[in-house]
Parts: sequence; C-alpha cells; structure tokens
Amino acid sequence: GAALLRVTDLEVDYPTKEGVVRAVSGVSFDVLRGETVGLVGESGCGKSTTGRAILRLPAPSRGSVHFDGVEVTALSFERMRELRGRLQMIFQDPISSLNPRRRVRDIVAEGLVIRGGGGRAEVAERVAKALDDVGLDPATAGSRRPSEFSGGQCQRICIARVLVLEPELIVCDEPVSALDVSVQAQILNLLASVKASYGLSLLFISHDLSVVRHICDRVVVMYLGRVCEVGPTERVFQRPAHPYTRLLMESVPGAAADRPPGDRAKAELPSVLAPPSGCYFRTRCPLAVDRCATETPVTREVAPGQYVACHLAEA
Ligand code: SF4
Ligand code: MG
Repeated sequence: GAALLRVTDLEVDYPTKEGVVRAVSGVSFDVLRGETVGLVGESGCGKSTTGRAILRLPAPSRGSVHFDGVEVTALSFERMRELRGRLQMIFQDPISSLNPRRRVRDIVAEGLVIRGGGGRAEVAERVAKALDDVGLDPATAGSRRPSEFSGGQCQRICIARVLVLEPELIVCDEPVSALDVSVQAQILNLLASVKASYGLSLLFISHDLSVVRHICDRVVVMYLGRVCEVGPTERVFQRPAHPYTRLLMESVPGAAADRPPGDRAKAELPSVLAPPSGCYFRTRCPLAVDRCATETPVTREVAPGQYVACHLAEA
C-alpha cells in the first residue's frame, strides 16, 4: 500500500544548560495505510520525541514529515490545524490529559467545535457515536466528569475524543502503560476494533515488546535517538539482525525494553549529551570491532523489508 506517513531524516534538537542535545537523529520510516507500526526502545531513546515531532509538538529541527503526500513541517498554522483532525495522538496518562472540570460530552466535542464541525444536533450525534464506539454509554457517560471514571475508562474517553474527528492516523504513545494489567488488553482490543472500523493506521510507541509483537505489522527499533532496525514484526522478533534488537528480543517473553536487556549489556545507557563516536551502540555491543568507534554504520536491507544499521550486516 501507499505510505500515509513518511518520516525522512528527522532530527530534533533541544537546548539544555550543557548545550544542544540531539534527541532524535536521522530517523526515517513509513506507516502505510491500514498499518500498525511499533516504535520501540528503552526510555530516553527518542521514541516519544519522534512521535510528537510528527505532530509538531514541538516541530522537528530538520528533516521532513509527509502525511498523505503533504509536507507537514512546512504547513502554515491554519493548514496544520485542518490537517490535525486527520492526524491525532493519544498519550500514556489518560487522566492528566483530560480536564477534570468538564463534562465528558464537552471534552469529546471540543475538537469538532474548534473546527466548526456542524450544528449542535450534529455535534451531539457524532459525540454519541464516538462514545458508543469506545464502549461508553453516551446517555450516562456524557454528562459525567473524568474524575468519576477509572484510568481505563479515561483512556476510552481520550480515544473517543480523537475518533470524533475521524482521523486517518493515530500516534499512540504508551497508551496502556499507565493502566492496570487487567485493563490493558481491553484497551488494546478496543484500539484494534476501532482501527478496523475507522480504517485507521497506528504508530504505536511502546516499551512492551509482547504488546508490540501482538498488534504491530512492522516494528522500528530505536537506540539513543537513531533507528537501528526496521522490519516486519515476526521477522524482527524471530531473526533480529541488529545486535541491540537481539539483546532486546532475548529478554522476551514479558520483556520490557525500558530496562537494560540481558547480562551482556550491563553498561549504562550513554547520555544523548555525549553519544559515543561511530556506532552509538558500540559501548554496549557484544560484537563491536575497531571500526565501530570511527564509522557510523549506514542502513542496509538485509532481507525483504528488513533494514539494519550495523557494520556486521554488510556480509
Ligand atoms: Fe555493534 Fe559495531 Fe554493529 Fe554497532 S556497528 S551494532 S557496535 S557491531
Ligand atoms: Mg516516552
């Protein structure tokens, strides 16, 4: 299928007291229509920053983001606002992303009202449909406030709030990580069902590899702000080609990529303030050779659709 989202050489810099940090460097990947792409890696690897930069929250420092063929980073504020209905994001902590003082129906209606989306009756009808689609009873839930709901129900409200705008792509940043384990599967099932009924594409940011394996068609592995491997999910889980991906996968099942994987990678995660020369992974890589300290590996296709940035992938 065609790429709905195309991220090319994305870079995000941010200023700190110690100088400018490049949190994301040379990141490229696509999300095809109807696809779910997982973005994985330890905390601090730049996956959330990448997701936010796609929506210009804040805008990337360099590189391009094409959404349905349109360069998002160059759009005027007005055109970006129009586009934002089609390109939405949900976050890790549903409770703090909802205004506790507003009624649920007003929260869900807000994006429509801002965009002048129809008269009062039409807005009410679309809000009711969105609430119904996420498994909340519009008649009773609409007049209540977020504090009356559990974390899982609040994430349903957040999903309704973006669905009402009929998006084409949702960036989901750790959407179940803050929820009880018993509720996580319900929200994942909900995402899968609305993905099908709304014809959505998802960029699914997560440190939980078992969740990613379960729901993603393809996976993008990040380390210290760079992409080290991209490929079809089953291929990457069964035949990981980058040494970092291998270390991550070794700790599956039940693995969480936000903790250092395996005994062979005990070294501390380097700071993005002072990344290693050459290959960023070399200070933790069990296979590093001299050349890894001086040359940045280029990305190569090692199997159909599987791309790896490692000198050893040349062979
Ligand atoms: Fe390891 Fe070298 Fe490959 Fe980097 S380029 S992952 S240090 S072998
Ligand atoms: Mg994050």
